[in-house]
Amino acid sequence: MGNNRIGILAVQGGFDLHVECIQSLACSHRLVRNPEDLNNIDALIVPGGESTTMQWIMKKNGLFPAIKTALLNNSLPCFGTCAGLILAATTIYNDHEDSHNDEGFGYAPMCVTRNAYGTQVDSFETDLNIPHIQEKFRAVFIRAPRVLSHGKEIKVLARCEKDPVLLQYKRSLFTTFHPELSNSLAVHKYWLDLIGNR
Ligand code: GLN
Repeated sequence: MGNNRIGILAVQGGFDLHVECIQSLACSHRLVRNPEDLNNIDALIVPGGESTTMQWIMKKNGLFPAIKTALLNNSLPCFGTCAGLILAATTIYNDHEDSHNDEGFGYAPMCVTRNAYGTQVDSFETDLNIPHIQEKFRAVFIRAPRVLSHGKEIKVLARCEKDPVLLQYKRSLFTTFHPELSNSLAVHKYWLDLIGNR
């Protein structure tokens, strides 16, 4: 049983399946909805969903600046999936590179475009080869973002065609797909190992 307490952002989006994954890996968790919920957690999962809605809710109750501060002072490693990756990025474009920027946590040095593959009907599944993690990982992409560029501190752990889809920054992990929708816990397990969950 891991000794870290994993916070799971639960203001909107697909947090419940992350809860199941964390429970399956025998770790304790706490749902994060208010700034006080950040007390006594060691790491944070930011799930997929609608990044603009999540921002709006978190800005209303002070959770947004609280998470931003914790990320920027490196006291809160995170696992951001899809919308979670978008929120963590330093530069966010809406749909096209020339559209206006949203403001996220500004934590991981990467430039991302939201909904880069099209609308809901352009969502897709594919098998990824994730070296050292899993050879054939069924990855589900739902209105996924694309990482256009990133700082050299970021390690790309997997690509789909040429696009980076699994990225590591310090003790944080980011996916443009939804690992919680796969039948494998390998990516969650990799992150728990990364944050020293022994
Ligand atoms: N398109 C969503 C956004 O911009 C992300 C989609 C997802 O998390 N599956 O926030």
